Amino acid sequence: MNLSGGTGEDAQELYRMLKRCIADVEQQLAYEVVFTVSAGAVAFFGAVPPLDDLVKKLDFSVSQAKKRGKNTLVMFNAVEYAQHLHRIDLQEKLRLAVKDGCRGFELYYQPVIDAHRVYDDKNAEQNKVIGAEALLRWSCPGLGMLMPDEFIPILEQSSLIIPVGRWILTHAFTQCREWNKIDPSFCMSVNLSYIQIKKNDILTDVQLALEASGVNPENLVLELTESGSIENDTEIQSLLDSFAEMHIKIDIDDFGTGYSNLRYLQDIHANTLKLDYSFVHKATTGNGGEAKVIKYISDMAHDLNMTICLEGVESDDDVKKLKSCEPDKFQGFHFGRPMNAVQFEELNLLKSHM
Ligand code: C2E
Ligand code: CA
Ligand code: CA
Repeated sequence: MNLSGGTGEDAQELYRMLKRCIADVEQQLAYEVVFTVSAGAVAFFGAVPPLDDLVKKLDFSVSQAKKRGKNTLVMFNAVEYAQHLHRIDLQEKLRLAVKDGCRGFELYYQPVIDAHRVYDDKNAEQNKVIGAEALLRWSCPGLGMLMPDEFIPILEQSSLIIPVGRWILTHAFTQCREWNKIDPSFCMSVNLSYIQIKKNDILTDVQLALEASGVNPENLVLELTESGSIENDTEIQSLLDSFAEMHIKIDIDDFGTGYSNLRYLQDIHANTLKLDYSFVHKATTGNGGEAKVIKYISDMAHDLNMTICLEGVESDDDVKKLKSCEPDKFQGFHFGRPMNAVQFEELNLLKSHM
């Protein structure tokens, strides 16, 4: 409807009137029925924009109204619309990249450090890197290198994470096998998305990547994000049992960011609890309360035969402050930022194994 000369308030009034009419209809019906009215409105000044452009913006506003729980009017928002168009554009570019053999994707590696060796003053020269976490990057012409937060949610929503996940597994496993030639005990950690597990035969993907790479499964760690969905899910439980039978380790990632149901930890047989950056950061900057919580988690993990990895360690001061938490592993910018394979090998493997 064209409310020529009208304002946003007029659109609201029209919407309220529509709802009142519909409520009257509901009451007149002989049976129980509830209608919801999701609506969108676009305001513009001057000349009327092209019709197809208007319709697209209206469609977008209506879809926003539905997303916000329906039965509401949403006024068109140009910033949100630009973000929406950017997402669609990225998704299309990602789809083409995947089709083209995962073009532009690259794995970066961040060192995983043995915390005991860090605190062991006697062995200052000893190499403390015991593994790496593979972290995905994507470079796209015109956009440069993007960080995972910018494209992994799109990969997940579009299920493109399934083919990309296969690529990640094969690349990370193959890289691990290469690095095991330098350090046979080196472990590679790979992040798994919940979508890869729920909508896909992840066991087959892992088996195929094992065969293609020839890596020893004992050198592999799969990271699952702590999530309410893992708990009480018998399918996932049996999947984790299968990984254990294959001698692949499981780490619980970002522990402390979800609702940290402690009961499921017993069933999951995880190798390591990884405490999220935000959590660790509070412990190193706060008044001591958070550090105590980390110590309790650490004690519990040790009682359950798990190790603790503290993420986001950024300074020597952090390392000192975290000693009382009795961590087993560290990850953080202080020990090394994520870097490409050539840099990782040069800095963390070759120098200490020559
Ligand atoms: P994550 O699994 O928790 O990975 C650790 C993130 O913390 C990495 O961000 C890393 O660069 C960052 N980080 C490490 N040390 C520090 C530090 O000292 N300070 C701060 N501020 N940050 C630190 P990145 O690479 O941007 O990855 C973000 C997230 O994207 C990952 O969080 C993970 O959830 C997801 N992701 C990355 N690669 C993959 C992948 O291959 N597959 C899947 N499914 N998810 C991935
Ligand atoms: Ca991780
Ligand atoms: Ca993490």
